[in-house]
Amino acid sequence: MIRAIRLVLVDVLHRLCSWHVKNMHKHLNYKSLNEFRALLYYSTSPANFEARWHAFVRKWKTDKTEEWLSRMYRKRSLWAASYLSDGFFLGMRSNQRSESLNSCLHLHLDGGMTIVDLVVHYENCIVRLRENEAHDHCVSNQSLPPSVTEYKDIEKHAAQVFTHSNFYILQQDLKKKGELEIFETLVGVDCHTFIMTWRNNRKFQFSVNYRAENSVNTIDCSCGRMLRKGLPCKHILYVLFHLKISKIPKCCILKRMSKVARGGLPAQRKSDIFGWVGQGQSSVLAIVNSV
Ligand SMILES: [Zn+2]
Repeated sequence: MIRAIRLVLVDVLHRLCSWHVKNMHKHLNYKSLNEFRALLYYSTSPANFEARWHAFVRKWKTDKTEEWLSRMYRKRSLWAASYLSDGFFLGMRSNQRSESLNSCLHLHLDGGMTIVDLVVHYENCIVRLRENEAHDHCVSNQSLPPSVTEYKDIEKHAAQVFTHSNFYILQQDLKKKGELEIFETLVGVDCHTFIMTWRNNRKFQFSVNYRAENSVNTIDCSCGRMLRKGLPCKHILYVLFHLKISKIPKCCILKRMSKVARGGLPAQRKSDIFGWVGQGQSSVLAIVNSV
């Protein structure tokens, strides 16, 4: 599978599903699992990962786990967050089938179903998902969540452009603004760089670059959340507030995260599987019954 993806989907960044990597509990004991999870989920630099991995192997390697550990190390760029921090995964680390469509489909499946029952059940599941999506779309487009932080202008603009669920993520980040500070400001000709850090922990620093004249890439941050999740990070929000900018720049508003993400899609479905009769076609049920 890995070789096939590299061959066919050459521009795609391939990530192993973390749910399947979690089969690690077959190979590791419960004491070492938490340390392995930190290697799996916690994003640091690749150099830092290497140091942590070798320390982990020295501590937990046994005759039984040696082969599995060396196999995991060879594939580290496919599962370790440290190597995947630049990938656009929208926060997903697993294929999430178990939480969504898979569980929805499996809920009422049983071995006694006919193929017609199966098709009807599938259609019911899809209809429910579409209804949820339409409901969320309607709520997002017909209401504005209230502002609760003291950074009302940015919050209000975020509420206008982002869907509710994305807005609430940004609202949580705005609430953390008081925990951040600008450690240093570097003023350039075209670009101002703000070195951001936590007030109580200056170990981690992130640089936010602001270019007033560049509408394509007005602002970016070295933490890379915009690249990974498609939403501006708390460092960017802090600098916008610091510069008294009341609107989130266009480069930080991806269409897929905004209220117009469904633009062009019909608000209501015009047909379903039972509506395929006509135009010289048989209905799906007729086809199924003839099998
Ligand atoms: Zn950031």
